[in-house]
Amino acid sequence: MTQNVIDKYLEKHGFGTLAPKAVLFDMDGVLFDSMPNHARSWSKVCTEFGLEMSTEEAYIHEGRTGEATINILARRHWGREATHEEIERIYEEKCRLFNACAEAPKMPGAEQVLAQAKAAGLRLLVVTGSGQQSLLERLELGYPGYFTFERIVSSKDVEHGKPSPEPYLLGLERAGVKPWEAIVVENAPLGVRSAVAAQIFTIAVNTGPLPGEALVSEGADLLFPSMSALADAGLFREIGDV
Ligand code: CA
Repeated sequence: MTQNVIDKYLEKHGFGTLAPKAVLFDMDGVLFDSMPNHARSWSKVCTEFGLEMSTEEAYIHEGRTGEATINILARRHWGREATHEEIERIYEEKCRLFNACAEAPKMPGAEQVLAQAKAAGLRLLVVTGSGQQSLLERLELGYPGYFTFERIVSSKDVEHGKPSPEPYLLGLERAGVKPWEAIVVENAPLGVRSAVAAQIFTIAVNTGPLPGEALVSEGADLLFPSMSALADAGLFREIGDV
């Protein structure tokens, strides 16, 4: 990582040093190539309930909690917030559709990134806007031995999901580190906004269809075109060598 990038980060937040001890990973679109399934399920279920949304728009809302996404659409299409019951029915149906999709593959390159970070002695956490059951099960199946229950922040743990900084602030707390002692890996504009608001050094990986500028304009400190490119850069190996 070039000193120039680090200096910019330190200046932006008024910190004196960047000394990473933990990496906070987003899940969908970072660890799993699951965004196409999510975007299709969201678009289909919302349209069924009279809340028409394109798959492209689903990528723009990526990272929000289900409730927040449904309410944005409800205000647009119904002129009011959705009721608790409506949110529950729509989200349940969305999860049903998502679970019926062919299982999302692991994101190419993600395992190498995790292995590099673990070997560098960094604590690994997951901070996700998802509230689906069996998060740990999925993580354990895909990436055995990397994450524990206490090191997963899901939408069930926070009042305000991304783009609020709350999920990443809770991630810092669970990692037992300060903002300048962590690094975030995110793929969604709203996720980047959340991490930057929590004052954490943010690596964006553009694994979806939006332009990279959508991530940079939210304040990402570094941008990679894929998790494989991040793995090839060997960034976490470099940190371990410090
Ligand atoms: Ca994501």
